[in-house]
Amino acid sequence: MIYYKTREEIEIQRHSVLLVSRTLALVAEHIGPGVTTLFLDRIAEEFIRDHGGVPSFKGYHGFPATLCTSVNEQVVHGIPNNLPLREGDIISVDCGILKNGFHGDHAYSFQIGEVSPAKKRLLEITKESLYVGIAQAKTGNRIGDIASAIQNYVQKHGYSVVRELTGHGLGRDLHEDPSVPNFGKSGQGAMIKEGMVLAIEPMINMGKKYVKQLSDGWTIVTADRMPSAHFEHDIAIIDGKPEILSTFEYLEEVLAKRSSTVQAV
Ligand code: MG
Ligand code: MG
Repeated sequence: MIYYKTREEIEIQRHSVLLVSRTLALVAEHIGPGVTTLFLDRIAEEFIRDHGGVPSFKGYHGFPATLCTSVNEQVVHGIPNNLPLREGDIISVDCGILKNGFHGDHAYSFQIGEVSPAKKRLLEITKESLYVGIAQAKTGNRIGDIASAIQNYVQKHGYSVVRELTGHGLGRDLHEDPSVPNFGKSGQGAMIKEGMVLAIEPMINMGKKYVKQLSDGWTIVTADRMPSAHFEHDIAIIDGKPEILSTFEYLEEVLAKRSSTVQAV
């Protein structure tokens, strides 16, 4: 069942979503070679609780952490650990927060130091595909229009779409209907209607589309162990059009400031 939100509910939810954006900006301040994902997880949880939120993922079906941290061939649902990140890694950091009864859920793939041109391109195309999908999230369209736009865009660039995991509705529950796949046919699936709030999240592989779950019961990796990227925004359908509730601006400002500091030395 799809829950359509009122304007008032969307405004409340916007605060939860933007707290996720600010948490990702905090991660951006600290992430880099030598840093562990467990450390990032600890500061993220502290920040969220200090701001009146509760980490949505911690305890969700038993997930043990605040962030999902998925490095290189890990697609999503990586568990933070004490292995230091290395120059050249890419890492999806996904964060969910419950505040005032509503969830925010959004993710960004970071580069650790200098990464290969091939990985950089994978990140660029995956991020672009997210916006290509969002552009189709308007009344009169269907979920399949978002899905096929993402699929066509990434396949045109030689990448593949993970089938087993999808975006989703988002609200009082972390995962609501409808599911929002990143592949499919235009003109199919649920109608897009006023008041829908969706988490759109392409998970895109450099190699083949196949994935596996590791024995930890969580981490999804590419079957061919080639790199994978993941970006996620939360959007609301307002006045028939997609409004992006989350933002990458906070974290990208931090990253830009950090890289200019490094260059100035
Ligand atoms: Mg997420
Ligand atoms: Mg999600």
